[in-house]
Amino acid sequence: MAITNWATNITFQDRLTLHPRSIQELQEIVRGNDRVRVRGSAHCFNTIADTQEVAVVLDQMPDFLSIDADAKTATVGAGLNYAQIAEYLHAHGYAIHNLASLPHISIAGAVATGTHGSGIKNGPLHTAIRAVDLMGPDGEIRRLTRGVDDEFFAAIVSAGLAGIALSFTLDIEPTFEIMQSVYGQLPRATFGANIIEILSSAYSVSFFTTWGNDGAGDLWVKSKTLPPAEVFGAKARTEKAHPIFGVDPDACTEQFAVPGPWHLRLPHFRIDATPSAGNELQSEFFVDSKNASKAFAAMESISHNFGDLLLVTEVRSMAADDHWLSPAYGRETVALHCTWKNDAGVPALVALIEAALAPFEFRAHTGKLFNVKSDHFRTVVPKFDDFVGYVKRVDPSGKFQNGFTRDLFGFLE
Ligand SMILES: Cc1cc2nc3c(=O)[nH]c(=O)nc-3n(C[C@H](O)[C@H](O)[C@H](O)COP(=O)(O)OP(=O)(O)OC[C@H]3O[C@@H](n4cnc5c(N)ncnc54)[C@H](O)[C@@H]3O)c2cc1C
Repeated sequence: MAITNWATNITFQDRLTLHPRSIQELQEIVRGNDRVRVRGSAHCFNTIADTQEVAVVLDQMPDFLSIDADAKTATVGAGLNYAQIAEYLHAHGYAIHNLASLPHISIAGAVATGTHGSGIKNGPLHTAIRAVDLMGPDGEIRRLTRGVDDEFFAAIVSAGLAGIALSFTLDIEPTFEIMQSVYGQLPRATFGANIIEILSSAYSVSFFTTWGNDGAGDLWVKSKTLPPAEVFGAKARTEKAHPIFGVDPDACTEQFAVPGPWHLRLPHFRIDATPSAGNELQSEFFVDSKNASKAFAAMESISHNFGDLLLVTEVRSMAADDHWLSPAYGRETVALHCTWKNDAGVPALVALIEAALAPFEFRAHTGKLFNVKSDHFRTVVPKFDDFVGYVKRVDPSGKFQNGFTRDLFGFLE
């Protein structure tokens, strides 16, 4: 049976798909093959996790999760998904700082593409990582630690090129409660003129719009303190909302400001439900927050082209960080995301967005759809060439590369 990504728009071309059950089995695979591509939960929308050679999936590796209360860290297996990690942490009285819109994704796959949630003070998910155990192309395992190893900031958001992550040690904090409220009909003009103020108004804030004639959108506010009755005149909804109009909101986490644990509020979608629309594509571009209002206006100016292919746009924020390929490397960032119908017309609309955002030195989410090539990445990712040099050093034969990474990073063959 054909193996596909979650969205089913990519059929993987693996010659062999292997699910090692131990470090030793994985070492034999890595040592015995010229090309090996590791895959997580396959939630990317492009061929980043594809290969024509050997694919390895870590879902059969022994689970491990442990907490070091003195060090305030947890160490978790790289194949685990965020729901498994979060449930364990919460059950032991701990939390991590943030989650993406869905908890279904593997931690290794998520951090490899710079996956993020929202929150003006919250870095993307990889910023919680303190150390990683990585298997190199020789099958040897190296530990890289933040603040100790220079290459740490190249090796986590690595598109799978730095090696096979086996485990991560994460910064943890005491578990906390969050309240989620959705405010309806916030005028787009108001949001556009006050983006940073609005995105800063609570722990994690997202704005959703379809760019429709109502001229408005929904504001999703996840707050540690009791959220206000109104935000810029928009009132809290009294019926449960889904980010995508017309989809059953039962799939979403609890709203109406009901307090609950962080991992059951920070994601928009419940682990036991289909996240988002299901049959869909996604694109996402990142701009410096100081350009957020202009970039938002640029999206609005072309949005009449989206027709019925756009399901929804989401705007989020993230704190700057130091990881070389991070969407937020060196700059406070605003993310402009689109969920699309699964349709062949989408790449042309993504290209329109890229043209509209070109003045703002946008970066692209490497797990979603984009058209720009390595020349664009090189101009907007200051550490691009350093990253290429790093990968050439740690994997000189290109064992962990695939067609996607060769196109994007333009090295080897
Ligand atoms: C419904 C939906 C909602 C989403 N919401 C968000 C969101 O809120 N925020 C956001 O930023 N993104 C979001 N995404 C995108 C998603 O977070 C990324 O696509 C993420 O990379 C998926 O993780 P994965 O485990 O499925 O990765 P995969 O697609 O399996 O792999 C991605 C990359 O990770 C590498 N990788 C996997 N395992 C390892 C390993 N052990 N060691 C080294 N490299 C490895 C692979 O080689 C590949 O390069 C969403 C996607 C979907 C489908």
